[in-house]
Amino acid sequence: MVSNDQNKFQAIISHAKEYGFVFQSSEIYDGLSAVYDYGPWGSELKKNLRESWWNEMTRMHDNIVGIDAAIFMHPTTWKASGHVDNFSDPMIDNKDSKKRYRVDHLIEGFADQLVKEGKEKEAEELISKMEALLASNDFAELKKIIETLNIKCIVSGTCNWTDVRQFNLMFSTQIGSVAEEANEIYLRPETAQGIFVNFLNVQKTARMKIPFGIAQIGKAFRNEIVARQFIFRMREFEQMEMQFFIRPGTQKEWYEYWKAERMKWHQSLGMPSSDYRFHDHVKLAHYADAAVDIEYAFPIGWKEVEGIHSRTDFDLKSHQEYSGKKLQYFDNEINQNYVPYVIETSIGLDRMFLLILCHAYQEEKWTKEDGSEDSRVVLKIPAKIAPIKLAILPLLKKEGLPEIAREIMATCRHEFNCFYEEKDTIGKRYRRMDALGTPFCITVDHQTKDDQTVTIRYRDTMTQERIPIKGLVEFIKSKM
Ligand code: ATP
Repeated sequence: MVSNDQNKFQAIISHAKEYGFVFQSSEIYDGLSAVYDYGPWGSELKKNLRESWWNEMTRMHDNIVGIDAAIFMHPTTWKASGHVDNFSDPMIDNKDSKKRYRVDHLIEGFADQLVKEGKEKEAEELISKMEALLASNDFAELKKIIETLNIKCIVSGTCNWTDVRQFNLMFSTQIGSVAEEANEIYLRPETAQGIFVNFLNVQKTARMKIPFGIAQIGKAFRNEIVARQFIFRMREFEQMEMQFFIRPGTQKEWYEYWKAERMKWHQSLGMPSSDYRFHDHVKLAHYADAAVDIEYAFPIGWKEVEGIHSRTDFDLKSHQEYSGKKLQYFDNEINQNYVPYVIETSIGLDRMFLLILCHAYQEEKWTKEDGSEDSRVVLKIPAKIAPIKLAILPLLKKEGLPEIAREIMATCRHEFNCFYEEKDTIGKRYRRMDALGTPFCITVDHQTKDDQTVTIRYRDTMTQERIPIKGLVEFIKSKM
């Protein structure tokens, strides 16, 4: 039953569906590619992650406030931000299967294969060469690499490729009630621009002084060319972004500051530091003077989960030019007016969700005292973000045990998410809670009636102990 790394990813996808975390969108119509829905426990976990980020950014920093901007924005926004002209990926089509690939994904896939064959140095050289060619937009040379290495389409199995072309990732639609009046607008491909256009509104109304940040969580849309990567790469996803406005010239120190701060947040959730690394960008986006990814060791390899970008004054300056409105700040400490520089931290909520599942998912097997084998699938989700914190389980459906359990539930549900369950044997109920990632289960039994104690069972160690009902809420909180 224990999966190896290659099929661990598939096992996680199946588990996420079977236990109500993530479903394919519109599944009854055979699904919509790279679009997903979150089920009962998935939406709880996502909410907890969202809250953890929001509290870390806004509550824990005096100088960061949040906003919630609309998805639709004036179309000129995307001209000014550079997305209309630059937000594209080099793509290549296979002429036989008509399947389209992102050039970097195709070459990275080949490099992964080299690593599997023990040719790590060759793989590294290939990736550096590719990054340099992407940085210089040398599409002819990129095509040559694909042909020379004989990289084949997985559908047709042929190496019959078109030229490499740019493909814009923005979705567009029409706004306006009558066809003649309709204007083309875009579904935002990032949340950041909602922050930039509101820079002065927020600075003035919240009376912020530089350095300060604006945080936002919301949906973003990209017409991605996708390999089957589950919620790693979606067409509709959620971003958690923060733009930190600073005095020009201080960007290097704030960039380092935010690199360290963001890594601290990841590790505060309970993931080991050995599963993380920084990866500096070689090809910088059109707005950046430095950029780094925080990467995680997913079962499908080291992949980006968050980006930290030094965006200079590109966005504010550009919006200033396109709108004709001044987007400047008067810094009374130095008596100067300027367009602030920006450090951005940008993380995908769905990708972070996937990271948690990959970290948490474990298949365990052991030999019991009587010599027989036993096994379980457990999600070791850090307690503070687990969808259900406490399961309350009466041993029997009768003899007054459910009543006591319901009373405990009535007290605890005000404090954290609880789950009441009286069906099935206690062993089966424990296993189900393991699969949902519930860190604590308490069982109400006959002894409870005599001494007002319950058995608490810990998910990770499967050990049990008796504790008094009085003080249960504080006990659980202290364990979280
Ligand atoms: P990638 O190189 O993986 O396409 P990116 O560099 O384009 O990502 P950014 O534009 O920096 O990503 O977006 C910030 C974060 O948003 C990423 O680190 C990732 O967590 C998340 N993200 C970006 N695109 C997607 C997507 N299609 N699906 C899910 N999350 C995404």
